[in-house]
Amino acid sequence: MKPTILGVQIDNLSRTEVLRKIEHFLNSEEQHYIVTPNPEFIVAAQKDQEFTKILNKADIAIPDGMGLKIAARILHKQKINRLAGVDLMIKICKLAAQKNKSIYLFGAGEGVAKKAVNKLKQKFPELKIAGAHSGGIINYQLSIINPKLNNSQNIAKIKSANPDIILVALGQVKQEKWIVQNLPKLPSVRLAMGVGGSFDYISKKTPRAPKFLRILGLEWLVRLILQPKRIKRIWNATAVFMWLVLKEKLTK
Ligand code: UDP
Repeated sequence: MKPTILGVQIDNLSRTEVLRKIEHFLNSEEQHYIVTPNPEFIVAAQKDQEFTKILNKADIAIPDGMGLKIAARILHKQKINRLAGVDLMIKICKLAAQKNKSIYLFGAGEGVAKKAVNKLKQKFPELKIAGAHSGGIINYQLSIINPKLNNSQNIAKIKSANPDIILVALGQVKQEKWIVQNLPKLPSVRLAMGVGGSFDYISKKTPRAPKFLRILGLEWLVRLILQPKRIKRIWNATAVFMWLVLKEKLTK
């Protein structure tokens, strides 16, 4: 059975198993989406049932972050494999290049997706890029994308590029809701994934924490130093999340 952390189901798969499943998705007739829950996702899901449902209906939910590893230990005495969203995105690009599948990068600030494409092309010269464009700032009102943003133009642009894979960088919650609402309008897409700040990392707009800090689960500390405005989000991802996990353990 899948381990559940505060109502959110997680897949405990090795990297090979994840890539095998993705390869199968790319060759199937159906559409699929992957989510990468981290502690912030789980805190957000506590107050948003629609988001919880979207996470639990995903074809794969890859735990992103040390927080989930600790929570699985505390709640289920289980050792789970974690994989950062950006690392999974790079693995998907590598697989796409090997299997001749095309990718579309949608979201992030102006010009960032295109810069990320350039970096990916350097890394994987065979990679087929169907397209890339910024999503602008998307506002949600009652879980509906603000129509002023002209989402249908975004969809038309992506649809005409016929991608096999779409990677969506609109920030957590928004990107997952966007995928579920819009995937059926993009019939060529076999796999969609919300990738958070991955385009910012790949384009080098935002530096990533050094590997040893990532292994220790201290990526949030670097984010706090580089982006002090994120303090509330970091507080949610660390203290609030751990408090909820301990409360669940004590009341179970
Ligand atoms: N973003 C966007 N539109 C929005 C909100 C966010 O394009 O309405 C982009 C933002 O520019 C960034 C990415 O979404 O490239 C992820 O944002 P965030 O910093 O929240 O990333 P996370 O913490 O999820 O990695």
